[in-house]
Amino acid sequence: MKQRLDKFLSEYTGLSRSQATKALRQNLVKVNNMLVKDGALKVSTDDLIEFDGETLNWIEGNQYFVLYKPEGYICSHDDGDYPTVYQFFDYPLSNRLHTAGRLDVDTTGLVLLTDDGQWSHRITSPKHHCEKTYLVTLADPIEDFYLEQCQQGILLKGEKQPTKPAQIEIIDDYNLNLTLIEGKYHQVKRMFAALGNKVVALHRWRVGQIILDEHLAEGEYRSLTHEEVQSFLE
Ligand code: URA
Repeated sequence: MKQRLDKFLSEYTGLSRSQATKALRQNLVKVNNMLVKDGALKVSTDDLIEFDGETLNWIEGNQYFVLYKPEGYICSHDDGDYPTVYQFFDYPLSNRLHTAGRLDVDTTGLVLLTDDGQWSHRITSPKHHCEKTYLVTLADPIEDFYLEQCQQGILLKGEKQPTKPAQIEIIDDYNLNLTLIEGKYHQVKRMFAALGNKVVALHRWRVGQIILDEHLAEGEYRSLTHEEVQSFLE
């Protein structure tokens, strides 16, 4: 597909169209090693485009990533009091991507990001029952009745329907793995609040068939493989 050079520049650098035009006039743009001033020039993926000495790499097709979210980052594009997970990505990806579901600012672990809205819907919509597993650390010791309660469903404060059946695997007195097939607002924290306990640490390590890689450090990400992308569409 061919597109105008000035449009390409503003999409890939974050410059406005008029700033892109100015950059062209200032001889900051090369196409296939030649200085270009004409913003109307049509460019395609075959062209090597440089801006201020840096190559702008074309992004082709939809993008899919898994990120290890550290504590203290938010999963929204809004500039609030916290840095966002999009800061781990360079422009233009940082602008194009959205998270498939959100983790709280104090929750760590696996976040999927994409620019494919239909795909992320498969992960977040309760209709598709996509499993998400969390390592939960509690303030008080785990009680035996949690298992049955989580399987039966828990009526959260302010909700009309109980939670869908959730699986618990106890690790020790204070730690357990919890697998959910839905994602209500602050669901894990609210479930344990309803059971009379408090979540003191929360880490998501699995979404569908994707397990957080051991070699990914906090703040690092990698592209999903074709098979991983497809696994949510089966
Ligand atoms: N449940 C929560 O309470 N917080 C999260 O970040 C994810 C699930």
